[in-house]
Amino acid sequence: MATRRKQSATVMAWLTVIITLTLCTVAAWGGNRLGRAQAATAVTQQDSRVVYLTFDDGPDGNYTREVAADLAAAGAHATFFETGINMRGQCPLIRRLLADGNQLGTHSWDHPLFPKLTAGQTAAEISSARLEQVSCTGHNSLLFRYPYDKPTAAGSEYLGSQQMLAIGSGIDPSDWNWQHVPDGEVTRRVLAQLRPGMIVQLHDGNAAAGRDHGHPGYLPGLLRALKAHGYAMDVLPSQGSPSSGHE
Ligand SMILES: [Zn+2]
Repeated sequence: MATRRKQSATVMAWLTVIITLTLCTVAAWGGNRLGRAQAATAVTQQDSRVVYLTFDDGPDGNYTREVAADLAAAGAHATFFETGINMRGQCPLIRRLLADGNQLGTHSWDHPLFPKLTAGQTAAEISSARLEQVSCTGHNSLLFRYPYDKPTAAGSEYLGSQQMLAIGSGIDPSDWNWQHVPDGEVTRRVLAQLRPGMIVQLHDGNAAAGRDHGHPGYLPGLLRALKAHGYAMDVLPSQGSPSSGHE
């Protein structure tokens, strides 16, 4: 029953979501069919300056640890959209993210281009990553981000059937492209588009993990800059449900 109450609170929270440019169906959510909509890239009706940092493609055994340490040092929290293939063997690290007050979501099993997948492959990509995360943590997240921000009708259909929600990129400073986007530029790009409720898409795995010799060099500076502008860094207003994975 606690889970149901939590999901009801989640429904109310996400009714405040601004919907922008990507094509994705956020279908059944808490039993209410919302119909064809788009991936959320910000949360509205903020009564205070809050920004939602998100990290994709991890976890990476070294880099994610550094990200977690920087967040903890700054009193910040973030949401991690993890791939199934990178979760394997990293359960202690993922559990640490949760224990620190961060939030988990999934990002497919192995990061394919969803427009190239069949409906069956789409469902397998989403469900296998979610199951890996549940088996690792007991945490059943309803949040999903498409690889390459490429939503599909089949993906939307499946996410809707599972009462899952697609999260868009919001502010995308291309931190993964570290060979061409220096640390200061990451911060500058975020600040240029910053407003309360924005989601910021960052990365902690694959290409990004090579950045600054395995350290998220831009992150301490970005966190300082956000604080200096009066912002708190929090998790998205949807937690999924701690459970045994029966849902
Ligand atoms: Zn990705």
